[in-house]
Parts: sequence; structure tokens; C-alpha cells
Amino acid sequence: MSQDNNDKNNDKNKEYEDVCYICRRPESKAGKMLHIPNNICICNDCMQKTFNSMNNMGSPFAGMPYMDMFAGNLNNMQSEVPKRQKLKKKKAEKGKNKNKAPEGAFDIRHLPAPHIIKSRLDEYVIGQEHAKKVMSVAVYNHYKRVLTNDIESDDVEIEKSNMLMVGPTGCGKTYLVKTLARILQVPLAITDATSLTEAGYIGDDVESVLSKLLAASDNDVEKAEHGIVFIDEIDKIAKKRSTNSRDVSGESVQQGMLKLLEGSDVEVPVGASSKNAMVPLTTINTGNILFICGGAFPELEKIIKNRLNKQSSIGFQAELKDKYDKDADILKKVTTEDLREFGMIPEFLGRLPILFALQAMNEDMLVEILTRPKNAILKQYKKLLALDEVDLVFDDDALHCIAAEAVKRKTGARALRAIIEEFMLDIMYEIPKDDLIGRVTITKDYIEGCGAPRIEMRGSGEAKILTSRNVPEITTSMD
Ligand code: ADP
Repeated sequence: MSQDNNDKNNDKNKEYEDVCYICRRPESKAGKMLHIPNNICICNDCMQKTFNSMNNMGSPFAGMPYMDMFAGNLNNMQSEVPKRQKLKKKKAEKGKNKNKAPEGAFDIRHLPAPHIIKSRLDEYVIGQEHAKKVMSVAVYNHYKRVLTNDIESDDVEIEKSNMLMVGPTGCGKTYLVKTLARILQVPLAITDATSLTEAGYIGDDVESVLSKLLAASDNDVEKAEHGIVFIDEIDKIAKKRSTNSRDVSGESVQQGMLKLLEGSDVEVPVGASSKNAMVPLTTINTGNILFICGGAFPELEKIIKNRLNKQSSIGFQAELKDKYDKDADILKKVTTEDLREFGMIPEFLGRLPILFALQAMNEDMLVEILTRPKNAILKQYKKLLALDEVDLVFDDDALHCIAAEAVKRKTGARALRAIIEEFMLDIMYEIPKDDLIGRVTITKDYIEGCGAPRIEMRGSGEAKILTSRNVPEITTSMD
């Protein structure tokens, strides 16, 4: 009787394929299986991989999570979590106050005053005086709020100083935030609002901005909770005007960001941009994270002009309609009302109380950017050539010529690098050929493509005439 039953079972089993316990491929795809106790099958590939990883890691079952389980060694599974997904343990809280600053970080007594923060910004960022001033004060207040232990002890609760900056591309929005984070030695995450979508849709979840901050803080939650998040291209998540479908990358993202901006406990995927079953989660409190949003807001000028024109055409003091048409700094007059008209929702704007605009780059500012900042691009080239004992000099009108060309390209300071790379390539290629060259002067003619740079030789007055545009033409002695 029992023999009969066994035979029946065997026949039934033959109707089913074996499936690899690890890769889940059936026998028809993965080939013959190895059978191990507890009715477990493993394909040849997975078995081979296991042996390989055992050899590489020097530990039995390492690299094969299921085998770890068989060995009853669940602790080993921890070693399978990639390093960037591991969390640094929180230090034990000594006092009750959660807002206490991490040890070794800045402290309220050492927090630089706004004028010192601004003077440090001045070393790197050209122009944008108003923006630098507003940011210095906002950052000072923000960290004062973070570092003061007894914020909750009295009735006055200091609000967060999240910021929203409006300015054309290449005017230094990202650069300002980067410099600020460096000065204050706080972790910084820079993200792009265009990649964000509502949870569940293709794209990054809103919480991914915090994952980046966590990564920038070496996965130290406490450090991340005092960091800065810069969200660029914020204008791209404006409400879409004419759409019948669900606006998953516009208004919904603004809605999703509300709780982050305001300050709450948020579940954040560690080492990934969206939540899924394979990613560990941690909780970050955003109450002390400074959010700075930036965007170019194209066409915002028109909205501002319309508003101003409407205001000024009412009443006895009605002014000329085109009064604001030629106002280059019209962005400075931006208000939340204009941004609402642009498509930002009021709840979102309400959580970014500090609103300011940056100036578009003009020729003089661009000349300064070329030469003045601590790590100015021309200083970098000078240093490179100085290593070859060659002195690199720029004529004043050559600098203005480069700046004028950059203004034409309408990408702000970003254009400078591209222009300089174009004409410096030949210099950097030709000059090291001749050890006798002592000084190279870049002239306006050379930039305009109708002349050559001035070359001065070391010691002798030997003339050297070469043929291409990039080649030295006039040579004199340098003594
Ligand atoms: P955006 O406003 O589009 O974010 P960025 O801040 O990325 O522009 O600027 C691009 C580059 O131009 C920066 O890396 C920096 O080198 C230079 N730059 C822009 N604005 C300034 C400025 N005001 N002072 C000095 N350098 C600047």
C-alpha cells in the first residue's frame, strides 16, 4: 500500500520542474539541479557563485545569504549589506534635549556672526551682495535656533529659515550654497527637482533628497539632521497649467515636500533613491535641516511686470505702461504672489519664508569672476604655467572681450570656462614645447581670432615666428 503511494508521489513530482532556491530559475532554464536536504534545489550557476565568493571572502557561506541561513548564522547576513547602506549608530543621548548640537561641530559661541559669514562668502562669490547678506543672516539665525538648547523652553518658537532663491542660470545659486556649507562645515546635499516624482511613480521619491544628505554625512543620522539640502530647478515642479492627467512631477511633488520643509520625522531609504523591500530605512527628523530651493523661473519677469503695471496704472499716480520694460533688475521685486501665479502652491511658498533674487551676470562681474575669487579660473591657469616657469598675463581688454562673449552666450558664468578652454588649449599645448619661453600675454586680438599672443623669451631676444593663429608672433627679451 505505502509502496503504491510513493510511486504515485514520484510520478506527480515528475510533472513539476525543480526551481533553484536562490535565483528562482526553473530547471528548464538553469539546467540540472543539486538537491540538498529539506527539498532544496540549487542550480549549478548559483553553486559555482557560492564557491567563488567563499574563496574571495574567505568565509564559508559568505556572499550567499540563503546558505547563511542554513548555517544558522544570521549574524553573517549583516555583512551582506553594502557599506553605503549601513547606518552609523546614534550616540547615546546624554541630556533630554534632542536639538543638542553634535559634539565637535560648531557651537553657539563659535558660530560666526552674519558679517563674518558674508566676508567669507565675499572671498569666493562675486557680486550678489543682497543675496549674500540675506543668506548670512538666515543661516546665522537658523543655526542659532538649532544650537540654542532651550528653544522649546519658552513660548517663543523660532521658525525655520528655509530659503527660496530666484536667479538666471549661471549666476551662482549653487555656488553660493556650496560655499556656505564649506564655511560652516555642515553636510550638503544638492539635488535636482526635475528627477522627483510622487511616490510610486517612476522617478525619485521626495525622501531621496534626505538619502543624499545622509550619504553626504557618512550615513550619520545626527550629522545629517544639521545639514543643508539644496534643491535646484525648483521651478520645474510648478503646477502644470493645462493638463488633464495627474501631475505626478509637479504639484504632487510640492505637496510631498511640505512635510520635509516644515520639519517632521521622515522614513528615508538608506543608499537608494526610492523605498522598496530591499532597502533599509531610517528615520530622520528634518526640523533642523536647512532647505534652500533655487530656480531660474523663466518668464517670471513678465508676471512681475504685469503685476507692477497693473498697480501703477490705477489711481492718480498712474505711470507709463512701459516703465518696467527696461528694468534689468526686475527680478528683485519678486513676491510670493508672483510665484503663486507661476505655479507654486501657497503651502509650499509658506514654508520657504526667505525669498530673494540674484542678479544676472554683467560684463564687469564676469571679468571679476575671471580674476578675483580665491580659486579664480585664470589663477588656476597661471599656476599651471608657473609650474613650467612661464608667466601668464592677460591684457585688460582681452578679459573684457572674454566677458562680452560670455554675456552673449546667456549662460552666465558657466560660459567663461568654455570660452577659456577653447583658446587656452593651444597655449597649454604649444608653450611647454619651448623651454626658453618666459612670459605669455593673452591679447584681445588673440581672443578675437585675428592675432597671436605676445611671447617673451627668457634671456635672449631671439625671435620666433610660427604660423597658426595660436602661435607666438612678437618676441622680445624679458631681462
Ligand atoms: P547656477 O546659478 O545655475 O546654480 P552655478 O552656481 O552652478 O550657477 O555657477 C556655475 C559656476 O560659475 C560656478 O561653479 C562658479 O565657478 C561660477 N560662478 C557663478 N556665479 C559666480 C559668482 N557670483 N562668483 C564667482 N563665481 C561664480
